[in-house]
Amino acid sequence: MKSEANGPQVYVIPCSGIGKPTASVAREATYRAIEDLRPGVADTLCLSLLTMGDAQTAAAVASTPCITVDGCPRLCARKNVELAGGQVCLALRVPDLLREHPGLTPAAVLEIGPQGEELADRLAAMLAHAIDGLVHKEDSVVGRS
Ligand code: SF4
Repeated sequence: MKSEANGPQVYVIPCSGIGKPTASVAREATYRAIEDLRPGVADTLCLSLLTMGDAQTAAAVASTPCITVDGCPRLCARKNVELAGGQVCLALRVPDLLREHPGLTPAAVLEIGPQGEELADRLAAMLAHAIDGLVHKEDSVVGRS
């Protein structure tokens, strides 16, 4: 297992959609998970660097478990992490969560509103749970070796 000094144990990578409120929820939830809920354990990185072929970013996603969070079925985050050789251990889609909670539709791209905030909170909690699962899985793998 990586130590904190060696970098994050998990990357959470949201899509970079600028035209969809669900993409804003993906990014908001990502920051709540990595900064508020699991600081020092998980981090994010710039999806654009991956799409531009940045070697250092590609190496990071290839050596660290990744969770992608997409704002629509085009799955830009998941596809680009996979194309760069990254390990996508979990791929979440905001529309799936929204189907489970139809009353939590985000209001707009720049201001997701109270319903969108609630959706982001729920997604952040899911991300934190998934981060824990990946970290503990790595612990158990290390423990067996
Ligand atoms: S997954 Fe959808 S919302 Fe996100 S960047 Fe791609 S097209 Fe935009």
